[in-house]
Amino acid sequence: MYLIILGPPGAGKGTQSVLLAKLLSIKHLSTGEILRKAVTDGTSLGLKAKAVMDAGNLVSDDIMIGIIKEAISANDAKRGFILDGFPRTLKQAIELDSIMIELGYDGLKVINIAIDDDELVRRMLGRGRVDDTEETIKNRLRVYKDQTAPVREHYMQKSAVFDIYGKGNISEINSKIISLLKGK
Ligand code: AMP
Repeated sequence: MYLIILGPPGAGKGTQSVLLAKLLSIKHLSTGEILRKAVTDGTSLGLKAKAVMDAGNLVSDDIMIGIIKEAISANDAKRGFILDGFPRTLKQAIELDSIMIELGYDGLKVINIAIDDDELVRRMLGRGRVDDTEETIKNRLRVYKDQTAPVREHYMQKSAVFDIYGKGNISEINSKIISLLKGK
């Protein structure tokens, strides 16, 4: 199964992705985690990405597309994956469509988690990540609305999109997602 999980920062994409990956035996690919690891390891990618991430802006499409292409082409992603944090722009979504075709992957499904802004800010301030300061959070929400919200529209026209309200109990939300994916 090939899945994308969309939603604003703080919606619970990471938490839900980990659970779904385990349940469905698919690979969890978080671009945020890949970038944070690169920063910690001090690689050239990390050096390029750090300031951009700290400001809550987006790392360039070319870099991100390169990362995802490599990750989903790998053996451990062939049986299925859940992309968490990608695509974040229309360009990334369009490129992903071509890469999927190139690799012969079919049947992409999109889970979209919706949640209110005040709840998002509350959750992010509680996470304690370096890019979770109030100023950066505001910018990340702005970037999300401007650049990432159109990605849902893109998939509404071509793939199955499952809209979920993300407030509430983690395992209840997880069960809801599973039921929707299984068409119940
Ligand atoms: P996340 O953990 O998904 O909230 O990502 C943390 C940060 O990594 C974001 O605020 C961006 O700066 C960067 N990032 C992660 N995924 C992407 C992406 N697909 N495109 C551009 N930047 C990204």
